[in-house]
Amino acid sequence: MKRATAPEMEVLLEGNKKFRENVQANDPEPLKKLTLDGQAPPFMFIGCSDSRVSEGTVFNARPGTFFTERNIANQFHATDANAHSVMSYTAAELGVKHIIVMGHYGCGGVAAAIATPPSAPIDAANGAVQNWIGPIRAIFQTSIRTEIVELREKNKLLAKVEEPEPQEPGFRALVEENVKASVRRIATDSVIADGTCSQKGLLLIVVVSRTMPHSLATQR
Ligand SMILES: [Zn+2]
Repeated sequence: MKRATAPEMEVLLEGNKKFRENVQANDPEPLKKLTLDGQAPPFMFIGCSDSRVSEGTVFNARPGTFFTERNIANQFHATDANAHSVMSYTAAELGVKHIIVMGHYGCGGVAAAIATPPSAPIDAANGAVQNWIGPIRAIFQTSIRTEIVELREKNKLLAKVEEPEPQEPGFRALVEENVKASVRRIATDSVIADGTCSQKGLLLIVVVSRTMPHSLATQR
């Protein structure tokens, strides 16, 4: 008996079928090798959960390229057991050469950190998000970067601050500062700072993406 499938699921099933056919027809050996020999990805990737900025898509990457952690607004905190274990495992055990933190302009998590917080009572879903973006709110409130200071001053005049437009310079600056904050936390994390990883030539890389990455800057 054929089971009814939602149209959006059909798209995924068809996509996976095409992926398998393409691999088989064009170059099956790399994937076979990854399966038999295990993975040795050159990159650990920290990015936003946003559906528009998948690392495999924006870098046109093959399987075996990225070991990935994604969350709302691409944050790294050592207190986040998920992100910390992913980063620690890839840096210390898999021996990745590069850790990439990629933010993206127009990020909804960063926009929400600029807007006025919702007033009580806050439902559980919104509460979870507000809690998670708290550190970005703190960057917005304390940054001395000119574009952010100007937006902060402008917002002080408003009774209620809405989420900014993507081209707002203060918003774009906050996307960048949020990426830098994650990179700083990784650089000073005990797993990285003990020297073992840097002796292996580990690099931290910042990428800020519109849809395709347009700037790369090596941090260390
Ligand atoms: Zn985002």
